[in-house]
Amino acid sequence: MDYKQYIRVIPDFPQPGISFKDITTLMNQGEIYRKAIDELRAMVSDLKIDLIAGPEARGFVIGAPLAYALGVGFVPIRKSGKLPGETIETGYDLEYGADKLAMHKDAIKPGQNVLIADDLLATGGTIATSVSLVRQLGGNVAGAAFLIELAELNGRAKLPDVNVSSLITY
Ligand code: 5GP
Repeated sequence: MDYKQYIRVIPDFPQPGISFKDITTLMNQGEIYRKAIDELRAMVSDLKIDLIAGPEARGFVIGAPLAYALGVGFVPIRKSGKLPGETIETGYDLEYGADKLAMHKDAIKPGQNVLIADDLLATGGTIATSVSLVRQLGGNVAGAAFLIELAELNGRAKLPDVNVSSLITY
């Protein structure tokens, strides 16, 4: 399947020089969206996964259907100040900008195998921070799964000890 034909590339968004991969044009095609999730599920089928964690907001639209397909739970990783319960937080740098991510302290039981899912791996900052949060909570990072990987930004270098799967590579 050539998924790239369903991804709209928008130059200079959200900043000059960034070539934004817009996945909304893939998500609004039900059959293609489902196929992509099913293929990602097949790519992680050898991993032991008890839970999926995904960073807001596009990590939810990949992570939650993947969790449903695998029959495991989903845990949101959110920007600082959004989660209502007790949280832990860690700061990070983005391809553009910087921010803090948070998880509920009781979201993961120590020893649970957690797959981290997001729409896109760019510099790897978001996922490296997500990995750090999961490990701080005692979780074992089973892997990281992405719809898209921007290979030239070499996000994998920030995830040396993580099993990375991605469906589409630019
Ligand atoms: P990183 O932290 O790996 O540099 O950036 C990845 C994060 O930024 C992901 O959570 C992703 O949603 C967002 N992101 C960065 N660039 C793009 C892009 O071109 N398209 C989409 N859909 N998300 C992006």
